[in-house]
Amino acid sequence: MSPMTRRQKFSILFPNAPAFRLKQMEEALFSSVFHGFADVSNMPLAMRETLTKELPWLAVTAVQVFESVKKDTFKAVVAVEGKKRVETVLMKNARGQWTVCVSSQIGCAMACTFCATGTMGFTRNLTADEIVDQVRFWIYFLRKKSILFSTLRPGLEERDSRGGAEDFESRISNVVFMGMGEPLANYEQVKEALRLLLTYTDIGMTRITVSTVGLLPMLRKLLSDPAWPAVRLAVSVHSADSDTRKRLMPSSYDGFLDGLVAWTEEYFQKFESRRRHLTFEYVMLSKINDTQRHAEALIRFAHRVGKVRINLIPYNFTGSVYRDSLPGDFERFQQQLEVAGVVVTRRRTMGDDIAAACGQLIVEKNVTPAIV
Ligand code: SAH
Repeated sequence: MSPMTRRQKFSILFPNAPAFRLKQMEEALFSSVFHGFADVSNMPLAMRETLTKELPWLAVTAVQVFESVKKDTFKAVVAVEGKKRVETVLMKNARGQWTVCVSSQIGCAMACTFCATGTMGFTRNLTADEIVDQVRFWIYFLRKKSILFSTLRPGLEERDSRGGAEDFESRISNVVFMGMGEPLANYEQVKEALRLLLTYTDIGMTRITVSTVGLLPMLRKLLSDPAWPAVRLAVSVHSADSDTRKRLMPSSYDGFLDGLVAWTEEYFQKFESRRRHLTFEYVMLSKINDTQRHAEALIRFAHRVGKVRINLIPYNFTGSVYRDSLPGDFERFQQQLEVAGVVVTRRRTMGDDIAAACGQLIVEKNVTPAIV
C-alpha cells in the first residue's frame, strides 16, 4: 500500500490549522532557503517540531547516481520508504536547460514487451510527494553541483572535462512522466503531483508531458475533469496495425485504435488550442513496425486523427528479442511519413550508456556508479 501524502498527514496532525498553514508547508518544500521543516521560521515552533518528526522533508533518498560519458544525462536510483527503488533521470535539453524524467509507479503492470520496466511487474503506485520529490531531488543535486564547481579554483582541468558551474546553474525547465510506470493508472496521485509542480515551481503546463500507453477510460476522464491541468499528453502508439500493437503492448485490444481516434476528436473539440500539445510516440523496432506496410498504416491513422505529431523513438536495447531499426529503414520510414504530410520528429537518445534511456529504467546491477 502507498504511504500517506504530506498533505493528508498534515490534515490529520493539525485538523484545526488554518488553510494557509498547509500552503506554507508546501511552499517551504519548494523554497530555496529552507533545508528542513525546522528552518521554516514563519511556522509555529511546535508545528515545525511535529513536522520534523512526522514527515519526510524529501520522500526519496538517493541510492546511486550515474553520469553519462557526455555529462549531459544523470540517472538516480532512489529509495522510497527506505527500501523500494525507482529511477529518475536528469537530461540537458536542446534549450541548454534541464529536463527531469519522473517515475509514477514502482514497476509497471502494462508489460509492454520491448520495455525493461515491463518485465519487472507492478509493486505499487508512487504518491504525489514521491513523484514531485524526484524533481526536488534534482533541484538539490543541481544546486550542490553548481556550488561545488563555482568554489573550485579557476584553471582546474576539471572545469574543462566536466563543464563549469554555469552548466549546473541553469534551471529545470521541463518535466516528463516517462520513467517507470503508467501515469494514468495512477491518475489521482499524478494529478496531485501536477498541481504541486504547477503551483510551486516556475515550470509551466506546456513544459510538462504525461506519457501514457493510452488508457482510454482515463484519457476520457481527464477530458471532463476540471482539475486536470492542460499539460502536454503523449500517447504511446507504437503501431497503427491492431495485431502488431496487441503483440507489442498486452494492454491493447481490437478496437483500441478506433477508440483513440474517437478520443482525439473529442480532445480537439474541447481543446482546439491544445492541438500541438498532443504527440503520438512510436518506438522503431526493426522489421516489427518499421516496414513500408507499417508506415502506410501509420499514415492512414495519422490522417484520420488530423494534425498530430508523431515522435519516432530510437529503440534502446533492453536485452529483449527486438532490434533497433536499421538506419536506412528509419530514414525511409520517416521520409514516407513526411512525404504524406505527417508531422514527424525524432527523439534524441540520451544516457544509453548508463541505462537511463527510455525503456531501460529497471534497477539493475551491471552499471558502475559514477557518483554516489
Ligand atoms: N507508461 C508510459 C510511460 C513509459 S516510458 C507510456 O507507455 O507512455 C516513455 C516512452 O518510452 C513510451 O513511449 C515507451 O513505450 C517508450 N519505451 C519503452 N521502452 C523503450 C525502449 N526500450 N526503447 C525506446 N523507447 C521505449
